[in-house]
Amino acid sequence: MKYTQGKYLILKKTAVAREIYSFIIKCPEIADIASAGQFVHIRAGNFTLRRPISICGIDRNKGTIRIVFEVRGEGTAEISRLNEGSFIDMLAPLGHGFTINRFKKVVLIGGGIGTPPMLPLAEIYGEKAVVISGFRSADAVILQDDFKKTGAKTILCTDDGSLGIHGFVTRPFTELAEKGGIDAVYACGPMPMLKGIAEICKKYNIFCEVSLEERMACGIGACLGCACRTLRNDEEYFAHVCKDGPVFNAGEVIW
Ligand SMILES: Cc1cc2nc3c(=O)[nH]c(=O)nc-3n(C[C@H](O)[C@H](O)[C@H](O)COP(=O)(O)OP(=O)(O)OC[C@H]3O[C@@H](n4cnc5c(N)ncnc54)[C@H](O)[C@@H]3O)c2cc1C
Repeated sequence: MKYTQGKYLILKKTAVAREIYSFIIKCPEIADIASAGQFVHIRAGNFTLRRPISICGIDRNKGTIRIVFEVRGEGTAEISRLNEGSFIDMLAPLGHGFTINRFKKVVLIGGGIGTPPMLPLAEIYGEKAVVISGFRSADAVILQDDFKKTGAKTILCTDDGSLGIHGFVTRPFTELAEKGGIDAVYACGPMPMLKGIAEICKKYNIFCEVSLEERMACGIGACLGCACRTLRNDEEYFAHVCKDGPVFNAGEVIW
């Protein structure tokens, strides 16, 4: 795993929803080697432990990456106080990303703040992708214009029906799976959502990768902070989300 650590310039900061921020960061050496599904580990103020945030955009020509994150606690609040023109301390790119293949039709499913890592995939697959995004309510919806710009078809769901389809992402996804023709599914979001998607993919025999979120410490596989139960050669194996993941084949995860 090749990664680098440094302080990088924040070129652009935008508030994309309440307590959700987008940063575009100048970091050519990271942009050069980063891939969809990997993450950056950010130093937050004086906290010892860095905070992991997925890569939401990679522009190799401009030497930038994008991150989109929600303020959840003290660490992310500290990061959100950084402004354009200041420097962000990152260890990146980390983790094992999504398998990119010559699939003809893929479905990208993001739940809430699990939506950002789906954007680099939509940029790769364009019209071959259907993006299903789910949010609590209309005021939490993010990135829909960005997904549309990629040429992907978008389906939006909200839990309370305030925008798009009323209900969980699993409903429109089940309809798509029943119709057939899907080569691969990529998903990131809350565990119950991922479990539901993994079950549907198993039923219809569709290749499925999920990006798991686990509290983590070092980010490089040196500590045991982010262990998760998986199956390897039919045997239980405690994988590290930071190094073996965050992306896993859905069939390997013990749900
Ligand atoms: C690989 C990976 C990629 C991630 N990508 C993104 C992203 O693109 N955008 C984004 O907004 N967030 C992302 N997260 C979650 C983000 O790392 C946490 O929200 C953050 O670490 C919380 O730190 P805090 O100090 O603000 O909150 P804390 O005070 O530590 O915790 C506040 C709340 O957040 C929850 N939390 C803390 N750490 C995690 C975690 N690692 N995963 C899930 N919940 C957590 C706690 O249960 C608690 O309820 C990602 C996590 C991982 C592991």
